Amino acid sequence: MIELNNVHKYYGEKSSRLHVLKGIKARVETGEMVSIMGSSGSGKSTLLNILGLLDTYDEGSYKLGDVTISAKLPEVKAAQLRNQFIGFVFQSFNLLPFKNATENVALPLYYQKVSRKERNRRANALLEMVGLGDRAGHMPNEMSGGQKQRVAIARALITDPKIILADEPTGALDSSTTNDIMAVFKEVHSTGKTIVIVTHEHDIAEQTERLIWLKDGRVEDANLKVQG
Ligand code: ATP
Ligand code: MG
Repeated sequence: MIELNNVHKYYGEKSSRLHVLKGIKARVETGEMVSIMGSSGSGKSTLLNILGLLDTYDEGSYKLGDVTISAKLPEVKAAQLRNQFIGFVFQSFNLLPFKNATENVALPLYYQKVSRKERNRRANALLEMVGLGDRAGHMPNEMSGGQKQRVAIARALITDPKIILADEPTGALDSSTTNDIMAVFKEVHSTGKTIVIVTHEHDIAEQTERLIWLKDGRVEDANLKVQG
């Protein structure tokens, strides 16, 4: 369960300080699949980065399961919690160009002192799950955008996180590839993962259980159900 209460975020120094999140109250239950929409600049990525412990907030409170995430969480602790709880998927895939699919997926385990053999075994099982069993040895530049995003989803799953956060994961893909990627997210969701997807596309929000609408740093509506 994710619970944010009255969360504020500012960027920049005092004189030119930008108030980006203006008292966010939001809750995501364990096992839910929700989307976040809102116009450009409304604070979606900022919010997702705070949820994913990639960024800190300034005021309010954040509970991630049983863990209270303090406003100024030290990076060492954040990294540890990220490894334990969170998988992140980005619009631009963020794969390492000189590593093949298996190595990209296995990378997060490298820091957990898992043997190479076991890392590769788990990575290949996940590549199989996302439909890329036959691409394990391929480099990122040998794959399509949709295939790269599947690799990125497999990588997000490798530490068996409870929560998957995705920032416009289909923003760089055409509509048929988008549907393929959504099918992968739904399959991941069916295994019990909590999924939060930031998107500009109604077609994606429609495929989630609930839509949180952000407007100018505030939650305008947390219980929208999008119908196709
Ligand atoms: P988009 O739909 O375009 O991705 P968004 O809703 O994700 O937009 P954010 O990226 O969260 O919006 O940005 C919210 C506001 O914060 C914007 O005004 C942006 O310019 C500003 N902002 C974001 N990141 C930073 C940063 N690192 N430093 C300063 N300002 C930032
Ligand atoms: Mg954004």
